[in-house]
Amino acid sequence: MKFVDEANLRVEAGDGGHGCLSFRREKYVPHGGPDGGDGGDGGSVYLIADHNLNTLYDYRINRVFKAERGANGAGKNRTGAKGENRYLPVPVGTLCYARETQELIGDLTRDGETLCVAKGGYHGLGNARFKSSTNQAPRKTTDGTPGEVRELRLELKLLADIGLVGLPNAGKSTLLSAISAARPRIADYPFTTLVPQVGVVSAGPLRSFTLVDLPGLIEGAAEGIGLGHRFLRHVQRTRLLFHLVDAADIEGRDPVAQIRTISEELERFNPVLAERPRWLLLNKIDALEPEAVDELRERVVAELDWPGPIYTISAIRPDSLHVLIDAAMNALEAAAAETQAVSKESVSGSPDDERA
Ligand code: GDP
Ligand code: MG
Repeated sequence: MKFVDEANLRVEAGDGGHGCLSFRREKYVPHGGPDGGDGGDGGSVYLIADHNLNTLYDYRINRVFKAERGANGAGKNRTGAKGENRYLPVPVGTLCYARETQELIGDLTRDGETLCVAKGGYHGLGNARFKSSTNQAPRKTTDGTPGEVRELRLELKLLADIGLVGLPNAGKSTLLSAISAARPRIADYPFTTLVPQVGVVSAGPLRSFTLVDLPGLIEGAAEGIGLGHRFLRHVQRTRLLFHLVDAADIEGRDPVAQIRTISEELERFNPVLAERPRWLLLNKIDALEPEAVDELRERVVAELDWPGPIYTISAIRPDSLHVLIDAAMNALEAAAAETQAVSKESVSGSPDDERA
């Protein structure tokens, strides 16, 4: 099973600047020669792989990207300025296709790698270029050529950044649909989520992550009763888990007991996963008095010795979720920076042990 993020966009390279038609006009020089300069080349559009990006979310908002046109040439043999290239950051692992033919233009597998997706136009020539022994006063120039225009489809195989765990009806589907573009099925009874739903969550421009709802990670999943097993591979790649709890006890299950159940389940299901950083999200606090929320938080810390962060949220009140989204994004960026640093060290082969 694969989750694929896609985006369609149009890229337009800059046209080449035109050549200039001009003759030198100076005092005491009756027939000045041709001095029209060349135009500048148009800017090209490139994709550039950036390890800080996780999704193609930003390309769903902006769809047309242009590079600068080359300037026209001018008299006195002045060449027009080149158009600036345009660099579009995309996540490492992005594949780029021509939308109409489905032809693969290229893929970006390493941080910093670039791919030219629209070549800038070539510059036109000024009339100074056409001077010859037989034609001392050429009036010929050429125009710059148009920049390439292409319709692209970007594709990225998503890895889940954050996994959602929790008992049925804790509010996982509700949370996912509240903070992402994904629209999972929601119903008021257990076992509604039959396949993992993945959502893209935006924390601002060029900052986004993926969240996957892991269904069936319930009592018995470790023995293969639930649906959780098939998705193990996905969960194992997540960098953080959100552990959602029905704090309002709407289902008549003590929240502390709920947390224990899932913790034990994770431990049995996959000890590696149990070691993942896990944030507790006490959900449905809209249905509780503030004092009851504080009391529950204290109980969790006291009875479970909970080591990680605890957030109190209401999945049906999207405003209450900004703090969580921001904190998660920051944590993922910090983790990515660490991974990056480690891989650089192992490439250079000389980890600096004495630094700390
Ligand atoms: P899941 O099984 O963990 O995916 O849980 P769902 O997202 O399907 O939610 C189960 C039920 O709890 C639904 O009826 C939701 O409307 C309700 N619910 C989810 N979040 C909240 C919340 O923050 N407050 C309240 N009052 N109800 C919620
Ligand atoms: Mg669900």
